[in-house]
Amino acid sequence: MESNLDLMRGRYSRQVLFRPIGEAGQRRLMDARVAVVGMGALGTAIATQLVRAGVGFVRLIDRDIVESSNLQRQSLYDERDAEDALPKAEAAAAKLRAANGDVQVVPVVADLTWRNAEALLADVDVIVDGTDNFQVRYLINDVAVKHHIPWAYGGAVSSYGTTAFIRPGETPCLVCLFGPDPGGGHDTCDTVGVIAPVVNLIASLQVAEVLKHLTGNREALNPGLTHVDVWQNVFRTVAFGPRRTDCPCCGRREFASLSARADSLTVSMCGRHTIQVRPERPGVNLERIAQRLRKVGPVRMNPHLLRCDLGAIQITLFPDGRALIHGTDDPVEARGLYARYIGM
Ligand SMILES: [Zn+2]
Repeated sequence: MESNLDLMRGRYSRQVLFRPIGEAGQRRLMDARVAVVGMGALGTAIATQLVRAGVGFVRLIDRDIVESSNLQRQSLYDERDAEDALPKAEAAAAKLRAANGDVQVVPVVADLTWRNAEALLADVDVIVDGTDNFQVRYLINDVAVKHHIPWAYGGAVSSYGTTAFIRPGETPCLVCLFGPDPGGGHDTCDTVGVIAPVVNLIASLQVAEVLKHLTGNREALNPGLTHVDVWQNVFRTVAFGPRRTDCPCCGRREFASLSARADSLTVSMCGRHTIQVRPERPGVNLERIAQRLRKVGPVRMNPHLLRCDLGAIQITLFPDGRALIHGTDDPVEARGLYARYIGM
């Protein structure tokens, strides 16, 4: 490990030369803790910049595994990761540790829910959104408002994206901006695709706000919601209005996502005929289930998961009991397959 002085003059020299950061800012980054939720296209671009910038502690939270359809834009992963079906959080952490051994990179292979959201997010200085859905964003917003933690909202599909840096108590929160229920029917990467340039642009805008905030450059923070479209040449910022005093979240401090106390048992995964099944009673013995599954199809295991190939259907099972059922869009069928091959 290099000394702080060596780091300032070596690894971080160009960032330290940038006046608004300087040595004082760099020291603040090295003391900072950030959580990135989602390690897809946005999350990998965000985490890469944060770790290389020397943010001292970076937690990577993701529930998914690497697949070949990710490689077009999720720049931390390679073909080997997809062949090995590694969890994204683990694969990303390995790459990022190789890029900067001075940063504490902590992978968490899990689904963010009301059960674990405060444990995973309330102990950091900033939360960064790399997710692809509003259900998780509303959960992040609840934790952020409840614990007064700033967070960088970001989303990108097709060639367009939106981002805002939300500071509870100062700016409107996500519920102020989009209402208590943004409803369904949004474009997704599954329906309209996505290109890498917009993802990297939104991720960069998110990280820029994180760096400004962590280094104490508050006057430079983006005071609004920014919308971009890299195909239509749009770059537009709408200034935040006032916080809504009647906002159920940041006004009345009712945290609907945290207090829902209900997990949907199944959720469809963006982009690829996959349903996640999360049983009520967590925890499974992978070895024992592997022995059983070897009678019905080839089984591969790595330290993080088990994978069984049933022909048209593949099952990926994690030690916490969560499974990804690949090859179906039907939650009922997915639950049935879980019950049949793993047991509920
Ligand atoms: Zn609000």
